[in-house]
Amino acid sequence: MMQKLLGAKEYPAFLASYDHPFHAGLRVNQTKINPDDFSNRVPFSVRSVPWVDNGFFCDADGQASHHPWYYGGLYYIQEPSAMTPASLLPVEPGDRVLDLCAAPGGKATELAAKLMGRGFLLANDVSASRAKGLLRNLERFGIANMAVCSEKPEKLLTRFPGYFDKILVDAPCSGEGMFRRRPDMAEDWKERGPSYYSAIQKELILQAADMLRPGGCMLYSTCTFSPVENEGTVEWLLENRSDFELIPTRWYEGFSHGIGACHHAVRIFPHRMEGEGHFAALLRKSPKDSGDGTGHRPQFTGERGDSTGILPGAAADFLAALQKPSFLTGQGQWRLQENRVYYLSDGQMGSVRLRFLRTGLLFGEMKKNRFEPSQALALALRAEEYPHVLNFAPEDGRVIRYLKGETVAPVKTSCTSGWMLVCAGGFPLGWGKMHNGMLKNKYDAGWRML
Ligand code: SAM
Repeated sequence: MMQKLLGAKEYPAFLASYDHPFHAGLRVNQTKINPDDFSNRVPFSVRSVPWVDNGFFCDADGQASHHPWYYGGLYYIQEPSAMTPASLLPVEPGDRVLDLCAAPGGKATELAAKLMGRGFLLANDVSASRAKGLLRNLERFGIANMAVCSEKPEKLLTRFPGYFDKILVDAPCSGEGMFRRRPDMAEDWKERGPSYYSAIQKELILQAADMLRPGGCMLYSTCTFSPVENEGTVEWLLENRSDFELIPTRWYEGFSHGIGACHHAVRIFPHRMEGEGHFAALLRKSPKDSGDGTGHRPQFTGERGDSTGILPGAAADFLAALQKPSFLTGQGQWRLQENRVYYLSDGQMGSVRLRFLRTGLLFGEMKKNRFEPSQALALALRAEEYPHVLNFAPEDGRVIRYLKGETVAPVKTSCTSGWMLVCAGGFPLGWGKMHNGMLKNKYDAGWRML
């Protein structure tokens, strides 16, 4: 199939690419740091990915995944081609975004970051166990304006017909583009090849299409070369939904065009550029039904505005000590559920019944009359938004001890009691509690460095 796709002349170069190592990378969280600052400050070597503004190549030696800033959500470790789909979907602050097949969150974290705290992301994955990792990754990125659920797409469609401004369908696929990085996927391919996945993809793309508002954009992507799964799925959509068109995307010289009528789609081949195999197609739903190009925006009902009155005293006191947290912009809503305090940013679907793992930001938990701030809150804050900060240099050995859940001593601070926001190089990692001049490590046990 590859020989047919590439031609006999080019095919040997494709095969030869499998003798080279795969390209490792990371993508910077622009809600926390800008890419230039990051590359100037990070102690390991990085090189820009030319087709993704905030993407970098790095060595696959584990330095990036063991650096404290990884734990601070400053970046996501991601193979450079896999950065492409989220970079091509034109998400704007204020959009309602759905990531239909989102776990473990490689693309959802970028879509959420592009919202810059306005609008919201619904990140879904049919697998409940994978959705847990998705939630963790979004929380690590400090995202408050999001919900994570684990539902079948047909169920989502009953709740959100024509609702979203932007949708990503990063479909389950036969993974042909990943064989260099993950040779085990070649074994899976023998069991479940393109025709198995093609049937699922056809269902998913139509369900997603019906959740998109008129005038909205959808990006369909896979990590396979298979024309049946790629162009075949896009053509299936175009045949079945006449209000959709395939549109050109921001182009990079190393990209290859899709086959036939899917010329505007992007194909990535490992012998033509520094990335693994991928496919991405940007589709637009006609705005003609609404006439104004913005589409009908159904609203969810739910209490709005200042609901801080429901907060128990200790949680309200903690909130009062924060200095304009970035996630508290706009009109949100506070919720108290089984001793846990949540903040739902403006417009979130708090009243919709689905298998949610999370709606909004877990602010913290009431333990009797005391309030304990959550790990997710620490990562949603900037250091300057909390009055008591313990900031270590990233290379200080105490940071790793903190991340491993060990005792962190000695510490020098004028604050002798209460919650401290522990930071590395100015970026929050988690909480500690001062007691008699000692810092108790409150780094969430489930998040520890192993
Ligand atoms: N977008 C993810 C990322 O960047 O980290 C990777 C997604 S992976 C290619 C495909 C995902 O689709 C898997 O996590 C799988 O559990 C999920 N999936 C499979 N069938 C699905 C379905 N019918 N509806 C929603 N998700 C599905």
